Amino acid sequence: MEDFIKVEDLTFEYVKSEDGTAVRAIDSVSFSVERGSFTAVIGQNGSGKSTLAKNINALLVPTSGRVMVDGLDTSVPEHVWDVRSRVAMVFQNPDNQIVSSIVEDDVAFGPENLGIEPVEIRKRGDEGLTGVEMYDFRKKAPHMLSGGQKQRIAIAGAVAMEPECIVFDEPTAMLDPRGRDEVMSVIKRLNGKGITVLLITHFMEEAAQADKIIVMDRGVKKMEGTPEEIFLRADELKALSLDVPPAVDLAMKLRERGIDIPEGILTIDDMVNCLCR
Ligand code: ADP
Ligand code: MG
Repeated sequence: MEDFIKVEDLTFEYVKSEDGTAVRAIDSVSFSVERGSFTAVIGQNGSGKSTLAKNINALLVPTSGRVMVDGLDTSVPEHVWDVRSRVAMVFQNPDNQIVSSIVEDDVAFGPENLGIEPVEIRKRGDEGLTGVEMYDFRKKAPHMLSGGQKQRIAIAGAVAMEPECIVFDEPTAMLDPRGRDEVMSVIKRLNGKGITVLLITHFMEEAAQADKIIVMDRGVKKMEGTPEEIFLRADELKALSLDVPPAVDLAMKLRERGIDIPEGILTIDDMVNCLCR
C-alpha cells in the first residue's frame, strides 16, 4: 500500500508570546500512514498528540522536519487548502464543533466553506447523516441531542467534505460508554469504506481495533507496531502510565493462573470467541 501521510523527523515548538521561549511539543518524530489504514495514537496528557494532529492538517507547520500529505508538503502555503480538503479533523468536544441550530445546516457548513454547489452540499449532507445513522434527526436542534449523537453530527460534517483522511482527536473522551460505542462503530465503518483514519485516544480498547499503534511520550515516539505487538509490552506501557486493554489484562491474569489463553486476544469479543470455542 502507498503512504498517504509521511511524517519525517518532525519537530514542533510553541513559542511563548510573553518571553519568546520555546516549548518543544514534538521531538524528531517519523512515521508513515498507509492510504486507507487505521492508525491509533496513544500517550499520556501533554505527550504531543494534539500537536501532531494539527501538524497533519496544516493547522500548524513544522519547526523542522517535514509532513507530507498525499505528496503535498504541508509547510508550503499554497498547499494548505489542498491539505485541508484531504484531511478533516474531529475534536473532543462536540459542543465546540457545532455551529448551526439545525442539524442539516451544521453538516452543510464544511462543504459550504469549500465553495461546493448547493445541490451537491445537500446530497453530501444527506449521505453524511445517513452514514452516521442520524438522517432522521436532520431537522432537529443539535443541543437536544446526546453527546454521542452530537459527535456523530460533527463526523457527518467532516464526511460531507469528502476527505481522504479524518483525524479524530479524542472523539470519545467526553462521551458515555454508549456514545463511545456509537462513535467507534462509525469510525470503523468509515475506515471500511476506504477513509484513512488517525485516531487519538486514551481508551486502549479503541486503540486495539487499529491496524497500527503509535505510542507518544513527552514529544517522542516511543513505540510503533500492531496492537498485538504493542500490547505485549505491558510493562513498558505501564512505565509510560499507559494500560493495556481490559481483555489483554484479563488474558494475562488467566494465563498467570495456568489457564491456556492464546496470544492475540485484544478485545472483549476476541475473549468471548476464545472462551466459547
Ligand atoms: P496531548 O494532546 O498529548 O495532551 P499537546 O499536543 O496538547 O499534548 O501538548 C504537548 C505539549 O505542548 C504540552 O507540554 C503542552 O503544554 C504544550 N502546548 C500545547 N499547546 C500549547 C500552546 N498553544 N502553547 C504553548 N504550549 C503548548
Ligand atoms: Mg490532546
